[in-house]
Amino acid sequence: MQKGMSAVVTGSTSGIGHGIAEAFAKEGVNVVLNGFGDAKEIEKLRADMASKNGVKVLYDAADMTKPDQIEAMMRSAAQAFGGVDILVNNAGIQFVSPVEDFPVAKWDAILAINLSSSFHTTRLAVPYMKRKKWGRIVNVASAHAMVASPFKSAYVAAKHGVMGFTKTVALEVAQHGVTCNAICPGYVLTPLVEKQIPDTAKARGITEEQVKRDVLLAAQPTKQFVTVEQVAATAVFLCSDAAASITGTNIMVDGGWTAE
Ligand code: NAD
Repeated sequence: MQKGMSAVVTGSTSGIGHGIAEAFAKEGVNVVLNGFGDAKEIEKLRADMASKNGVKVLYDAADMTKPDQIEAMMRSAAQAFGGVDILVNNAGIQFVSPVEDFPVAKWDAILAINLSSSFHTTRLAVPYMKRKKWGRIVNVASAHAMVASPFKSAYVAAKHGVMGFTKTVALEVAQHGVTCNAICPGYVLTPLVEKQIPDTAKARGITEEQVKRDVLLAAQPTKQFVTVEQVAATAVFLCSDAAASITGTNIMVDGGWTAE
């Protein structure tokens, strides 16, 4: 990774994606932000990231459920920056329900955002990467790409799918200077997780502190949440020259969760 390169980070208006975008900007990489949120807040975030780090930061509102919008985003990123050097597939949502009650629309949305959007961004980014004989694809999967939890059928299926997709793409681009890997975080305290806490507390009749300790962190031997900064630093490492031989694999950043 070098100053002046470009990165598209999907779902980067919040949480892990925002942290990864910020970390790339600090390295002198121009960034395309993507995701939903309040327009004024997003513009402030974009402008701050650009001015603080002296890089170009663009925002694209493409909805990751819409292949035509993804295509337009990738095209305009490549036009603005002369290609797409780094692609981080990070956009994701969660929904928790027993499989027999799982709303069909939620299943379709999770598969579209958490899995199929990575196919669309990747198929569109790879030609630019091959042309430059250099590229990095980082898929933000999850510990749930390796193990399951009940009531998360769509999320676990999508994240396992991301892992298979990661390995396949890695093999296809291996001789073109392009790597493709997945980062598998454990629980990170972002809006995606924070939203689950009050509902889980209510459903189980326990306090929010108990949900954090006895439900979420029960799976994590460190008993600590993973931080956004730790995941972002892993993404920066995967985009470094030192990681050129790391491809088709997953780096667990899960506090030991999947070692048990
Ligand atoms: P978050 O809710 O803070 O951020 C999600 C981002 O995705 C936001 O920017 C949101 O606007 C965007 N997004 C949602 N739907 C979109 C759509 N249709 N089109 C475009 N953007 C969309 O969540 P997060 O925790 O930062 O999650 C980021 C990724 O990390 C997800 O793929 C998630 O599965 C994964 N992950 C999170 C955790 C965790 O504990 N937080 C653990 C493992 C993996």
